[in-house]
Amino acid sequence: MIKFTDLGLNPKVLKAVNEVGYETPTPIQAAAIPHAMNGRDVLGIAQTGTGKTASFTLPMISKLARGRARARMPRSLVLAPTRELAAQVAENFELYAKHCKLDMALLIGGVSFKDQDRLIDRGVDVLIATPGRLLDHFERGKLLLTGIEIMVVDEADRMLDMGFIPDIERIFKLTPFTRQTLFFSATMAPEITRITQEFLQNPERVEVARQATTSENIEQKLCAFKAPNRSMEAKMKRTVLRKIIDDEGEKLTNGIIFCNRKVDVDIVMKSLKKHGHSVGAIHGDLDQRYRMEVLSGFKNNDIKLLVASDVAARGLDIPNVSHVFNYDVPIHSEDYVHRIGRTGRAGRNGWAFMLCMPHEEKHIDKIEDLVKHPIPRMDAPEVELKDRRRKPKKDDHAKSEETKSKKSHSKKPKKEAKAVEQEVAPQAEEKPKQQKSAKKPRQPRGNKGGGNRVVGMGDHVPAFIMRNIRTGEMQSDDAVEITDAEPNSENNDNETAA
Ligand code: AMP
Repeated sequence: MIKFTDLGLNPKVLKAVNEVGYETPTPIQAAAIPHAMNGRDVLGIAQTGTGKTASFTLPMISKLARGRARARMPRSLVLAPTRELAAQVAENFELYAKHCKLDMALLIGGVSFKDQDRLIDRGVDVLIATPGRLLDHFERGKLLLTGIEIMVVDEADRMLDMGFIPDIERIFKLTPFTRQTLFFSATMAPEITRITQEFLQNPERVEVARQATTSENIEQKLCAFKAPNRSMEAKMKRTVLRKIIDDEGEKLTNGIIFCNRKVDVDIVMKSLKKHGHSVGAIHGDLDQRYRMEVLSGFKNNDIKLLVASDVAARGLDIPNVSHVFNYDVPIHSEDYVHRIGRTGRAGRNGWAFMLCMPHEEKHIDKIEDLVKHPIPRMDAPEVELKDRRRKPKKDDHAKSEETKSKKSHSKKPKKEAKAVEQEVAPQAEEKPKQQKSAKKPRQPRGNKGGGNRVVGMGDHVPAFIMRNIRTGEMQSDDAVEITDAEPNSENNDNETAA
């Protein structure tokens, strides 16, 4: 069996690896590290969880341990698609380089340019960056890439999904062609192959897992169901999710819930929180510091459920997840493999549930083709949905006029009034044709025609209405219904990394 000491690594790096407690190199490490140490370009086809980060950080540190950085001219560069991944690579560097004197800078969005500039000015050995932020620094004239000796591209397939390939090509061209390149991707789309042919020189190809393997120790379940009517679909989905979570009981130690859209990440998080769950959310629109706090809370078991978008969660090293929930059927079938691969790691048991409404069924075939087996169906749990719609009563008009006059004295933002209206009058979601046929006029959506009139509120104005809301704050769970975007639209989760 290959040992770490067989790989040609620097003794200081071996010491750090030993202290971390790794006993033997993983297959990708055993295969990639010797080539990287020999100065060869490496094309690594490996998913997260295989130990691929150490397969490029360990040889980089070993090689950089000799030599010194010059101002504004980093000696090595790691490109990662998202802030979290870049931060995770940086954590790995700190861990493995603790006995070597290497300076590192992390260039990601959400962090001030000033602090990052100061580090670059002093000179760094290792620069870890998202492509957009790196180019921002370059364009400000603060950074020279002509001193790059080793360049790593991590999660290239995700870079492709996020539209970063032109940035990557540009960055490659800004670095010297004499550099050594270590390039990692979970899959090899034609565009990725083209890039590797253009920018890698006679690379050693190392591959550790088939593209579409789902672990055998993951119990997969597909829960298909239909809502009584369109306006109740979202609420029903949230209710079914909560029921499954509750039914899993103690088996569920922690879980990740994947949504296709950022807006649903927010809503599902709010809904679970409202029902007493310990929960956090990550997606690309959330503040960077918040995302990092949530992630570390989840890793430390302070947060039990993490609601996430694919882009934000992709590649993150989150060990020991018992459950994965596909709140939406993923549109790209590979995402199913990535999502459920978060559980059942290192031989542990894992459970993966996927919720499916009729409009999502069209994606199931592709997923089953990819994983090469049918996903076992389960009966949808019985859930009770309270239909909040009610027919207006005779005295509603008088009461709502009273409410209106009260509300006109409170300086409450319009947005909040709208949320409350939606909560008490979800029938506004229905089609105009149905509204016409109703005997009594219904409360229209928003303020149209009704001023600040709130149907059914009576003379009681709940305290939460009186609170000011901050811009960008999420709306109350059940008040939010999505009408503006096609469910599962492909382009609605385009997160940017920088
Ligand atoms: P990665 O695929 O780089 O995200 O790594 C997945 C996980 O494997 C991380 O938690 C690493 O700390 C861990 N790991 C990496 N290399 C080894 C090793 N040789 N032995 C045991 N665990 C490892």
